[in-house]
Amino acid sequence: MGVVETLVGRNSDFAKTQFTDGLRMMPNLKTIVIGCVDPRVDPASVLGADQGEIAVIRNVGGRVTPGTLEELVMLRKVTQAAGGDLGPGWELIVLQHTQCGIALLKDQPELLNPYFGTNDAGLDEQHVGNPRAAITHDVTALRGEDRLEGVRVSGLLYDVASGEVETVVAP
Ligand SMILES: [Zn+2]
Repeated sequence: MGVVETLVGRNSDFAKTQFTDGLRMMPNLKTIVIGCVDPRVDPASVLGADQGEIAVIRNVGGRVTPGTLEELVMLRKVTQAAGGDLGPGWELIVLQHTQCGIALLKDQPELLNPYFGTNDAGLDEQHVGNPRAAITHDVTALRGEDRLEGVRVSGLLYDVASGEVETVVAP
């Protein structure tokens, strides 16, 4: 049996035993986590969030890129269209982690520059390979974004060796 067949089989168990009916589109905790695609660092799982509690955007590194900002602005419009507002009362959490694979691309500006919307001179400021500095940078970028005014922003570092999260930038 292939992986897809296996996963579809597991879904049938999920639908019977773990599915929660009546969840809303808005995350119950009014929280969006920006995290990495790395399978070890699923934000819902490492932060103990239940279905429907948090929304998650995942990309390479869990970084705040121009693309991430556009997605957040779109999400704000979605919440407004649904009668809410991704503004005051909401939390944005940047969740990056140790041993992140993005560090392996440190010497490939031809990949990183378009990703971060920067150039060789500006790439150092993205602190690829230095997660604490990268988290601080990304939190600052979110806090400076006029289109997300009023949202509380924090930055966490997950240690893949211990399973523990460190608050790098408090809300
Ligand atoms: Zn990663």
